[in-house]
Amino acid sequence: MSINVIIAGPRGKMGSEAIKMVMKDDNLNLVACIDRKNNGKAVDDIVDISNVNVPVFDNASDCFHSIDADVFVDLTVPEVGYKHALAALEHNLRPVIGTTGFTDEQLDELRAIAMEKKIGCIIAPNFAIGAVLMMKFSQMAARYFPDVEIIEKHHDNKLDAPSGTAKKTAELIKETRDYKIQGHPDEKETIQGARGAELDGMHIHSVRLPGLVAHQEVIFGGSGQNLTIKHDSFNRASFMEGIKFSIETVMESDQLIYGLENIL
Ligand code: NAP
Repeated sequence: MSINVIIAGPRGKMGSEAIKMVMKDDNLNLVACIDRKNNGKAVDDIVDISNVNVPVFDNASDCFHSIDADVFVDLTVPEVGYKHALAALEHNLRPVIGTTGFTDEQLDELRAIAMEKKIGCIIAPNFAIGAVLMMKFSQMAARYFPDVEIIEKHHDNKLDAPSGTAKKTAELIKETRDYKIQGHPDEKETIQGARGAELDGMHIHSVRLPGLVAHQEVIFGGSGQNLTIKHDSFNRASFMEGIKFSIETVMESDQLIYGLENIL
């Protein structure tokens, strides 16, 4: 079966890597891209990949209306990705969303629409298989080590903080960890934010530096011991296997799935 795919964000680091992945795969077929700056051009006019002679639209609704597709992949920015996901569901197109930074309310709204229309939708804050394992292992460890801090590190063009992966890790840990406010009960920040963000008593620290891609350490503290679970994505190719698997899986789904760990 050949799956027709539309990609939004083709000039971005993730989007251009996703185009290469789709072009290489015999079962996937790129049929259009959405790019706010290049309406009417062909994809190979705007990215440095040859033989991608498919149309570019600057408007999602026009694209979804004109092009016959099965799956829509979004790799843009949160507010745009959310609107694209709504438009895709409206056109009965299955969204696979890699864009991070959606709010809980936006996720709930998309979940309700997907359920009502019985259309598959996969939203994953991290498509790297190793990152999913890092989250799973952290969830296991939290049962025994309730004192945990998350340090996530990304390139300095990232818009949302903490990362979707850090939030998702904290949510998974919350399911197994007994609630606990960490640190000294009288601790005081002498510079605001020194202890990072707080979720359910855990702390999350976001580092943004040039040269980084996507990295996370989950550090557990116990009596006389520390356990560190760490994952590094050194390039965007690390996310492509997860995107390919999600494109295939969303074809068989009739609801919203949040997180790659739920389909592995
Ligand atoms: P990037 O290189 O900055 O690319 C972003 C793309 O979005 C560009 O094509 C950009 O086009 C477009 N864009 C930005 N603002 C827009 C707007 N207002 N309207 C329409 N398009 C707009 O970023 P990236 O590293 O590829 O990351 C893209 C997204 O994927 C981010 O949300 C990032 O957090 C996420 N991400 C997810 C994973 C995962 O595994 N789920 C992994 C890495 C990254 P312009 O040039 O026109 O601005």
